[in-house]
Amino acid sequence: MPTVLLILKGLAENGLVKKSGTLESSGGRKPAVISLAYDAKLSVGIEITQNHLRFVLIDLNENVLHDKKVREPFRNDDTYFRQIGAYLKAFLTGSGVDPKSVIGVGLSVPGTVDTKNNILEYSPTLKTKNLPLDIMAKYIPYPVMSNNEANLAGFAEIWKIDNIEDAVFLSVNKGVGGAIIIDNKLYNGINGRSGEFGHMTIVKDGLTCSCGKKGCLEAYCSTRVLTEPGFNDVDEFFDALNSGSRICIEKWKTYLDYLATGINNIHTIFDSDIIVGGEISRYLEQYSEMVYQKLLPLNTFDERRNYLHFSKYGSDASAIGAALLWVDMFLSD
Ligand SMILES: [Zn+2]
Repeated sequence: MPTVLLILKGLAENGLVKKSGTLESSGGRKPAVISLAYDAKLSVGIEITQNHLRFVLIDLNENVLHDKKVREPFRNDDTYFRQIGAYLKAFLTGSGVDPKSVIGVGLSVPGTVDTKNNILEYSPTLKTKNLPLDIMAKYIPYPVMSNNEANLAGFAEIWKIDNIEDAVFLSVNKGVGGAIIIDNKLYNGINGRSGEFGHMTIVKDGLTCSCGKKGCLEAYCSTRVLTEPGFNDVDEFFDALNSGSRICIEKWKTYLDYLATGINNIHTIFDSDIIVGGEISRYLEQYSEMVYQKLLPLNTFDERRNYLHFSKYGSDASAIGAALLWVDMFLSD
C-alpha cells in the first residue's frame, strides 16, 4: 500500500492522475476513485498536403480535442514555413488550452522521410526533394518529429485497437501506400520506404503507374480508376454506383478484384491484421461482404475473415498519427 500511495502521489504532483469521486465504504473511510488525467499533456499533429494544412490537438488517450483544416498551398519557401507557425499559434489560441501543456508537434508529410536525418527525401505530390524538415518546422516553437502520411495514419488506426500489436495499414487514395506496424512501433525500413504497397506489381506489363512502371497496384486501385472519367470525386462515383449505374457496377467489380489481390498478397506476406484506410475505406465498409467474397477464393490457407478492418479516423488519421508520436514517447518514458 505505501508503495501504491507513493506512486500515486508522484503522478498527482505531475498532474497525471486526479480524484474523480468516492465509492461506498464497507467500513471506515470511503475509498477515493483515482483516474488518469488524459488532458494533463497534449500534442499537436500537422498534416502538410499539396493544398491544405490540417491541425489536430489530442490528449494522452488519442481523443481529438480540436481540429482545423485551412487552405494553404505548399510552397518550399520561408513565407510558407512562417505561415505554419502563425496558423499553429492561432489554432492553439482557438482551442482554449494552455500552450504549455503541449509536449510536442508531429508533422505528417506526403513523401518518403529519412527519419534519422529528418529529411523529406522525395515527395512527388509536393514536387520536392531533400527538404530538411527542421527548416519546414523553423517557426514551430515546440520539439518536432516527422514521418510519412501513410505511416502515421496506420499508427493512429492501430493505436486504439485492443489486443493488436502488429498490423499492416493499406491507404487507398489517389495514391496507394501503407504502413507496417510491429509491436506497436512503425517499421520504417532502411530508406523510409517500407509499406509502399501501391508499387508492388500485380499485373506483369500491365497499366502504367504514376511512378512510370507498369502493372503496379496503384495503377489498378487508385481512386482515380473509379472517378476518371466523369466524376469529380469518390462521393460522386458512389452516388452513381448506389443508384444502380451499370457502368459503375462493372467498374467497381473489376476494381475490387484487383484490390482483393493486393490485400491477399499483403496478408500472405505478413499474416497479420490489415486495416484499410484512405478515402475509399468508408465506402468499402458498406461493401465488406463483396470484399470478403473476392478474398476467400484467393486464400491459400483456411482463414478467419476478421483480419480485415476499416479505418476509424478517415481523413484525420495522418494528423492524429503525427500527434501520437509525442504521446507514444511520453507514455513510453
Ligand atoms: Zn508504381
